[in-house]
Amino acid sequence: MKLTNKLVIEKAKELGFDLVGFSRAEQLVDESVQLKKWIDSGYNSKMSYMERNFEKRFDVSTILPNAKSVISLGLNYYSEEKHNEEKGLGKISRYAWGKDYHLIIWEMLEILEEEFLEIDSSFESISYVDTGPVMDKVWAIRSGIGWQGKNSNIISREMGSWFFIATIITNFEFEYNEIKSDFCGSCTACIEACPTNAIVEPYVIDSNKCISYLTIENKDEINIEFKNNFQNWLFGCDICQDVCPWNKKFATKTSRIDFRPINKELNLAEIYALDEEKFKEEFETSPIKRAKLTGLKRNAKFIDCSGT
Ligand code: SF4
Ligand code: SF4
Repeated sequence: MKLTNKLVIEKAKELGFDLVGFSRAEQLVDESVQLKKWIDSGYNSKMSYMERNFEKRFDVSTILPNAKSVISLGLNYYSEEKHNEEKGLGKISRYAWGKDYHLIIWEMLEILEEEFLEIDSSFESISYVDTGPVMDKVWAIRSGIGWQGKNSNIISREMGSWFFIATIITNFEFEYNEIKSDFCGSCTACIEACPTNAIVEPYVIDSNKCISYLTIENKDEINIEFKNNFQNWLFGCDICQDVCPWNKKFATKTSRIDFRPINKELNLAEIYALDEEKFKEEFETSPIKRAKLTGLKRNAKFIDCSGT
């Protein structure tokens, strides 16, 4: 059996991936210039890891010496439930409602890469979900998965933007997909809806202003200037995806039960009562653990009108 595009797509879909695309493992010349510009503008805020391993982001052959292709995969996590806007509750971004996607996708990738290796023992690969020094969105664009929306998310014409991206760098050659056109057109819904004006220009997010960054990666106090703009977002923010017409029209419910809503909102009073042990127990397999207990309490206090 030969490892072809068709077979890769078949195996990936059998495992549950929704989108699969292929791109040539070239140096990311223009995209690296854009990334550098974004970092030089300070838009990565304190995510200094974005400044490291630039060579690896630029050229995946510094990760896998014999790299020929990049396979980009998308996994739909959309659940159609809506948030409860009740006072005293903090909203959780949709991607974190269920089990930590890293745990799920790492396992899927391991199985997939083993299957490829069984088909051809010369198959070599290194894969990432979100955490490595690869420009996963850029590869998803180059692999024809979707285009980058003005809110910076990758949008698929088939299912909108509610999907995780995984990336496999491999020594195998495939037929490569064409880059998709940008279908944002004259729409500016995400830019207008962002409550903190974090989309400073189309396709450019200033993390210093983005609720997603401020409530998750950020380790500092949240600037008081945003006090009345958080709309009860406790962990992450979905506003610029919720308003996107591509999501309104094409989002389809995920088939993965792991992403079913467990933590759609959290009770702020209950967060104040958590200690480290309870926090670990409660969020061990949830993406919410990323904010740590101190971050979650800080966020709760920030959005809590009673200011407990
Ligand atoms: S995630 Fe929220 S704060 Fe960040 S750009 Fe989108 S709407 Fe704005
Ligand atoms: S809301 Fe409009 S401009 Fe923003 S990403 Fe969606 S289609 Fe593009």
